[in-house]
Amino acid sequence: MRAMKVAMLSSEIVPFAKTGGLADVAGALPKFLCRAGAEVRVITPLYRETKRKNLPLRPVADAIELDWQGKKDRFSVVEHQEDGVTYLFVERDEYFDRDFLYGTPQGDFPDNGERFAFFSKAALETLKFTGFRPDVVHAHDWQSAVTLAFLKFVYDRDPFFAYTRSLLTIHNLAYQGLFESDLLGRIGLPERLFNMENMEFYGKVNFLKAGILYATAVNTVSKRYSQEIQTPEFGARLDGLLRGRSDTVFGILNGVDYAGWSPATDKFIARPFDPTYLDGKKECKRDVLQAFSLDVRQGDAPVVGMVSRLAGQKGFDILCETLDGIFEAGARLLILGTGEEVYQKALLAAREKYPGSLGLKIAFDEALSHKIYAGCDMFLIPSRYEPCGLTQMYSLKYGTIPVVRSTGGLEDTIQEYNATSMTGNGFKFSEYSAPALLGALRKAVSIYRLPVRWRALIQKAMACDFSWDRSAREYIRLYQKLSALG
Ligand code: ADP
Repeated sequence: MRAMKVAMLSSEIVPFAKTGGLADVAGALPKFLCRAGAEVRVITPLYRETKRKNLPLRPVADAIELDWQGKKDRFSVVEHQEDGVTYLFVERDEYFDRDFLYGTPQGDFPDNGERFAFFSKAALETLKFTGFRPDVVHAHDWQSAVTLAFLKFVYDRDPFFAYTRSLLTIHNLAYQGLFESDLLGRIGLPERLFNMENMEFYGKVNFLKAGILYATAVNTVSKRYSQEIQTPEFGARLDGLLRGRSDTVFGILNGVDYAGWSPATDKFIARPFDPTYLDGKKECKRDVLQAFSLDVRQGDAPVVGMVSRLAGQKGFDILCETLDGIFEAGARLLILGTGEEVYQKALLAAREKYPGSLGLKIAFDEALSHKIYAGCDMFLIPSRYEPCGLTQMYSLKYGTIPVVRSTGGLEDTIQEYNATSMTGNGFKFSEYSAPALLGALRKAVSIYRLPVRWRALIQKAMACDFSWDRSAREYIRLYQKLSALG
């Protein structure tokens, strides 16, 4: 059979640029698709962050022409190859050579609509220029979703894309890419699309809605979240639209790229370990406490970790209400995060109040994140909603027991520990409240105090397997289904 040709569009990709889980997924999935027999091109912007990595980037084109804002315009493309995957970077410094990907801590860049519309259109032109005629354009989140509007209304008569089907993966329905109505004309989409049946959304242009409307199929990153987003509670006002096409809304759980996330081989951690040699984990605990300048002598006290964007979604409001209780239970807490100023301030104030118990780093720090996964005893994810969540899967691999709110992918990947049957891989709470969070954490601490049980639980957690192989095969099956749907 001929190899399936997939053009993957993502606004962030590990190891080139990252703000969250999308980058991990877009970094891993293409590699595993290649291993499963697909031919993949991954297209992404060339950011300042990527340039600074000094990769050996090969020029592909100096000046590809495209229609932009009523004129002929040009952009260049550079390429990088790794693990059988070809990465193509759209170079346009005016839009992408900035210190941040989407905005500063004070807010989004005002021209994000133009930036990602340009990227999307340039991606399609790059495919044409390189002669890679995709069976599937696979777009991720709002930043690439608008590509599907270009495919439907601008490239619809282009024979190059005559057999191209499309998939939109929604990693987070709450981020939709909303812009003023005059954007459509400026980016070269028909202004008549500004109506409720098309891209209008409560007086704004909505890029994600375009993707949901025009993609051959839509998927989210866990089964549970694919159902949740079809309800008013989680649907972010797009639930009706998603219900309307529910037969083409799928859920495929993200995987973990264990090449980068294994305690036996991790270069960022103090000492490697595995389920038969857990002493290494003790050394990692000392190391991470030191990294947060906390006393390493209270070795018996449980240490709880968090690595998270500081955003409303992630549960920092109920966490702040729970801090007294967490420290009264004898635990210490290490938080690594960046994001919204309001949460930064609240956490900095909490650190003043609880020196010695709360370790906090406001930073994006890949190395420190690995130290946290490896060195903590528990990992806390009190999210209001969670499309998939990768951090619980990473912590499991490092024997760091997740304490999570049962929502979305957290619900799909974590089973409650049962002391009698010794089943389960973590601790869950369902009500979004401080007492519920504290209840789950206290339960985890009580098991932690029983070393034999706790050790067995660690070993069970480390044996959980969320490797990408299975999910990549599911994506290939879904790609194959698209031609019947389109
Ligand atoms: P989301 O995509 O909603 O941010 P996920 O759990 O899917 O959440 O993915 C988060 C990813 O970003 C993980 O790889 C996590 O380790 C990483 N991450 C989040 N915040 C930081 C940070 N401050 N420093 C380093 N890595 C971080």
